[in-house]
Amino acid sequence: MANGRGTLVVISGPAGSGKGTVLGELMEMHPNYVFSVSATTRSPRPGEIDGKHYFFITRGEFDRRVAEGDFLEHAEYVGNCYGTLRPFVEEMLSEGKNVLLDIEVNGAMQVREKFPEALLIFLTPPDYTTLAKRLRGRHTETEEIIEKRLAASLTELEKACEYDYLVVNCDGRARVAADEIDRMVTTRPAKDRERIKEFIKKFRK
Ligand code: 5GP
Repeated sequence: MANGRGTLVVISGPAGSGKGTVLGELMEMHPNYVFSVSATTRSPRPGEIDGKHYFFITRGEFDRRVAEGDFLEHAEYVGNCYGTLRPFVEEMLSEGKNVLLDIEVNGAMQVREKFPEALLIFLTPPDYTTLAKRLRGRHTETEEIIEKRLAASLTELEKACEYDYLVVNCDGRARVAADEIDRMVTTRPAKDRERIKEFIKKFRK
């Protein structure tokens, strides 16, 4: 940004859109991006590390932090609470870093209210079949949870129109998607809401 502050970049997308991989690629290629580690009341999945993937906290602690105003935004998603820790984000932005938030749509809309200059990018798999295959392929959740997450994904996709840009993450092309995100942050191309609407229509078919 012109005043030397970094850009706040919100990345939303259904579980299975490959956000983690794409953001990993982006930070590897461009060291001026940092990831904001959220707090959550969800239990860790196998392989998830406290402080790296999330800060895993109790519901009591989450509620206390909400009351103390520690979160820049927070929301509930499929029965668990998630929130972005404000101090880290503000410190990094003032150091000129671009801060990446991997958050769901309700949180993204809160960010838009509080930081109108933030860039909102919606990341999506190319189609529904790929989405379902990616979610089932993780083997980390029960079928019941997967069904809930698929339903949540379709609802989320409807909100993609409210984002600035849509990026499609095709299988094995995470690096391409990461490059596209960096291009959007650095050049801010014209928004194309019609294209996003068309994509959503086709996705549901
Ligand atoms: P998961 O449980 O699969 O890691 O994440 C579920 C959803 O919560 C994803 O859509 C993810 O982007 C979102 N999420 C993760 N951290 C936050 C956060 O701090 N705030 C909000 N609003 N959503 C989050």
